[in-house]
Amino acid sequence: MEKSGNKELKERGDKVFIGTYARYPSAMVKGAGCRLVDADGREYLDFLSGIAVCALGHCHPAVTEAIRRQAGELVHVSNLYYTVPQIELAELLTGNSFGEKIFLANSGAEANEAAIKLARIHAGEGRYQVISLAGSFHGRTLATVAATGQPKFHKGFEPLPEGFLHAPFGDLQALEKMIIGSTCAILCEPLQGEGGVRPLEKEYLGGIRELCDRHGLLLIFDEIQTGLGRTGTLFAYEQLGVRPDILTMAKALGNGLPIGAMMTTTEIAAAFTPGTHASTFGGNPVASAAAVATLQIMLEDGFLAGVRQKGAYFQAELNKLAGRFPDLIGSVRGMGLLVGAVLTEKGVVQGAAIVARMFERGFLMNFAGNVALRFVPPLIVTEEEIDCIVAALAEVLAEL
Ligand SMILES: *Cc1c(COP(=O)(O)O)cnc(C)c1O
Repeated sequence: MEKSGNKELKERGDKVFIGTYARYPSAMVKGAGCRLVDADGREYLDFLSGIAVCALGHCHPAVTEAIRRQAGELVHVSNLYYTVPQIELAELLTGNSFGEKIFLANSGAEANEAAIKLARIHAGEGRYQVISLAGSFHGRTLATVAATGQPKFHKGFEPLPEGFLHAPFGDLQALEKMIIGSTCAILCEPLQGEGGVRPLEKEYLGGIRELCDRHGLLLIFDEIQTGLGRTGTLFAYEQLGVRPDILTMAKALGNGLPIGAMMTTTEIAAAFTPGTHASTFGGNPVASAAAVATLQIMLEDGFLAGVRQKGAYFQAELNKLAGRFPDLIGSVRGMGLLVGAVLTEKGVVQGAAIVARMFERGFLMNFAGNVALRFVPPLIVTEEEIDCIVAALAEVLAEL
């Protein structure tokens, strides 16, 4: 039997899927390292990694082996019982961060839901408001979309759950004015990913920490995109001189298997007691085994230093490009291998076209927040692969 190609698969998919995604006309069938292959046999260099998910590259052999092994031992059991992969995962995470206790979920939004619920129950009755920042992204469930500081994600879904306020980005005074008796937490990303690879200044983050301390609020860091080695340390907060009270992670945790986590201190975690929160699949043994294998590799000597070094190289190469095309690229920013090329006013109009032309050339990346070209390659990317995408981008920019 002949294998289906992109065209046929697109037609079949469009007939049966609810149209929540504007998909490219390609069906991906195979991945290895930084490469993907579609149903027509076309190869792509992947600088999106499933949006910061496949941090060790596609089908990393050690992760695939861990999945295989666990799938043959135990695939699922209720969280009414302990499992070995979950314990190993929680030990690895707490052993390498400020966290002392973990709740395991299946996605980023679920990790944030757990964080919001914990902040509310910890604060006690009448204290439920969570302040997040304009331009933020925290997920698509009703509570996390309410926390997301971008009106375009709210449209059509009102009324949203109560108790979410958005402070203007970068304005500590405005943030402090919003704190009232019912506020329980401030939620932010240390660097806004979807919002356009926008870092929060160290001073700003320090100020937010100080506000939390002064007003008795919990500081929640959404490290769903910045966590797990992406920025060159296991978590971004390590480089920013600010320790959160609660941290959420997901995306890269299982290198492609769906898993998320919410991490906090023993004192705060005590507010959750049996029956207050749960998840049927949370911390699934196969996903947890994948996460253990992923973390073990990330924590190997030199891995995170390599991310920092390659990130600096990538940013330097993009800066050279910005010098050549100053009318299109305004600046380059990011941390580690979470890199954004901020487009100028003239460039922003071309953002989608740049990404489309790069796709035609076989390069996956995206345009984040209508602001920046976003590059989130697998952390195992090589300098040669970085050179390759920068050269292609130079060609595309020259065409425009
Ligand atoms: C992707 C993302 C989320 C949502 O994660 P899902 O797994 O899609 O629910 C939340 N916050 C940030 C910062 C993200 O990048």
